[in-house]
Amino acid sequence: MFESIMLNGGNYSVKPQNFIYASFDLCAIILSVIVLINYIISKKIEGTKTRLFLTLIIGTLVSAALDFAAVIAISVTGCPVWLGNLLIALNYLAYNVVGVAFVVYAVAVIYDNAKIPRWCYVVANALFALSIGGVVFATVCLFKYGYGSVPNYLKVSYEGLIYGVQFVALAFSLSIAVIKRVKLTKVRRINIYFFSLFNMIAVLSQFIARRLNFSMQISNFALAIAMMLIYVTLQRPEDELDEVSGAFNKRSFNRRGHMRLDSGKPFWIFAMEVNNMTVVNSSFGLNGGNQVLKEVAERFMARLRKNQHLYRLSGVRFAVMFDSKEDYEQYAERCKGIFEKPVSVNETEIHITALACVIAVPEVTNKLSEVEDLIRYYRNSINVSEDIITADKDAILKARRRELVDYAIQKAINNRTFEVYYQPIYCVKDKSFSGCEALLRLKDETLGFISPDEFIPIAEQNGKIIEVGRFVIDEVCRFIKTERLQERGITFVDINLSVIQCMHPEIIPDIESTLEKYEVPRSMVNLEITETASAGSYAMLQSKLNELHSNGFTISLDDFGTGFASVEYLIKFPFDVVKLDKALVWAYMSTKKYEPILQHYMPMLHSLGTKVVAEGVETQQMVEALVSLGCDYLQGYYYSRPIPKDKFLEFIENNGEEQNLA
Ligand code: C2E
Ligand code: CA
Ligand code: CA
Repeated sequence: MFESIMLNGGNYSVKPQNFIYASFDLCAIILSVIVLINYIISKKIEGTKTRLFLTLIIGTLVSAALDFAAVIAISVTGCPVWLGNLLIALNYLAYNVVGVAFVVYAVAVIYDNAKIPRWCYVVANALFALSIGGVVFATVCLFKYGYGSVPNYLKVSYEGLIYGVQFVALAFSLSIAVIKRVKLTKVRRINIYFFSLFNMIAVLSQFIARRLNFSMQISNFALAIAMMLIYVTLQRPEDELDEVSGAFNKRSFNRRGHMRLDSGKPFWIFAMEVNNMTVVNSSFGLNGGNQVLKEVAERFMARLRKNQHLYRLSGVRFAVMFDSKEDYEQYAERCKGIFEKPVSVNETEIHITALACVIAVPEVTNKLSEVEDLIRYYRNSINVSEDIITADKDAILKARRRELVDYAIQKAINNRTFEVYYQPIYCVKDKSFSGCEALLRLKDETLGFISPDEFIPIAEQNGKIIEVGRFVIDEVCRFIKTERLQERGITFVDINLSVIQCMHPEIIPDIESTLEKYEVPRSMVNLEITETASAGSYAMLQSKLNELHSNGFTISLDDFGTGFASVEYLIKFPFDVVKLDKALVWAYMSTKKYEPILQHYMPMLHSLGTKVVAEGVETQQMVEALVSLGCDYLQGYYYSRPIPKDKFLEFIENNGEEQNLA
């Protein structure tokens, strides 16, 4: 447009078509102002991308306004020449600022608010330096010659430089968007492609048109249109924000999390759950609850650093993703004492606590969908008492394993897929296998074989041991009856009873009804109890055992030598049998110091009328030593491992003949 203005004695004369060109700028100004106003009044996601988008809108607005002003300045008679020159130069600068900012914006969209790589800043700075060079060059020429009289080769040079910077910036943005297209959603991809291509065409046509002496001032207008498109399709923060807390929502968590997973780099998820929300909700209603969540989220957000975000996963669960363990640790450090100050709702102060764990991805899990499960598992595994408890990898893995085992136990109860194995017990006096111990086996489809040492304590904690115990007793009694074990020379079957089972009010009627159902005499069942240190249950256990004993059951003290059993314990409890724990037996075999202790114990036990069983007998040498020590029964791998029913029957049939018996 500027070419059409004729220099007239130092004053510009007005040419009406200039205003037609300027109307493109005017439209660009209107569009940018609309986007800017919308942008200001709408919700925003804090972050690099948002700040860059604001730079883009303001840059476009300033560029269009300067161009518009320049047209007016050089068109109105009497306006100083320097002002027109200055406005033109500033317009060039603002235009290039938008182009360079778009490079960084496109990268920010691709890397989605994560750290923008250094190379991006290098490219942007280089382009910007070139642009400054172009603008200085243009300014010098304009002031030296006056706009209309700049020699053509100079004009081509500086315009080439300025439009060139813009073109290269757009082409660069387009290329990285194409290269990194898999990282972009379809809408984002199309937006960057469109913005870059559309503006590249605009720059090119404007540059060519000027060379053909045909002025076309569309570049700012093209910028504004593309900006508007980005605004309506891309900048939709409400899609990714949680209304209640102001944190990002789960959708955002999933999207960003999957991008991180795709990148293959490990990352850390700090996941937390607010504890007392049910109480808050029931006393203050949903509004009160929401107020608390908002306050909690604000406290967590205030401790975040640049490029770190808080996500609300669901109800009371929040998460933050970190690039490194150090970042997480620093954040956890900053979160210390986060709930020291109570949260106030309706003038009531509420003390909040939360449970938090850090989940290493992909080390602990590579499924984002599992994050909430892991918090739940971990929650189930501990008692919350502190302000904020944080779990490490081992605790989380343990919690998950626990939960999976718990699930396997429930499945086995429902489908009756537990199995009882039997380990023969050798009677020294009779030189035969007169008894056995029933040992439970759990084989899960997914977890495989689970040791009773692992699943029994879990079943005890969740109360399932009662159901499990019923199964064992039923299974053993059925076995005794259907295979007529008595006729095969078996005089007792040991059944393990955990203390929790013993304390159950229905334990005695339960066992008795099962025995009756299968017509098994009480003397056939021997109950094994492990010594316990729990003083609270001492009296109760004592009365239960006395009751069982007076009802005709024999009782063994299991695992003697590992725990807390004292002589007093042996006297006060009605034990018929003491089972020396394998650890004690092995210690006796390997450490001289144990010899006098056991040799001292044996006559004492016998004088109390208790029989002694040695467990963990693995060698001929052990058999000899334990027999001479005075043990009444021997049990261990030397004779047989715990085996399934049919194998056990076979074993009895041959009277353990494959073994080299003592
Ligand atoms: P426990 O009652 O002390 O059972 C003896 C354990 O020692 C068994 O382990 C048995 O396989 C193992 N064992 C026997 N002889 C030898 C040997 O010579 N060498 C070695 N290394 N080990 C030997 P298992 O079957 O894994 O059972 C572990 C524990 O789980 C049992 O210890 C018992 O406390 C509990 N348990 C098993 N079945 C039941 C059940 O039906 N109810 C309850 N409440 N607890 C059970
Ligand atoms: Ca036992
Ligand atoms: Ca034992």
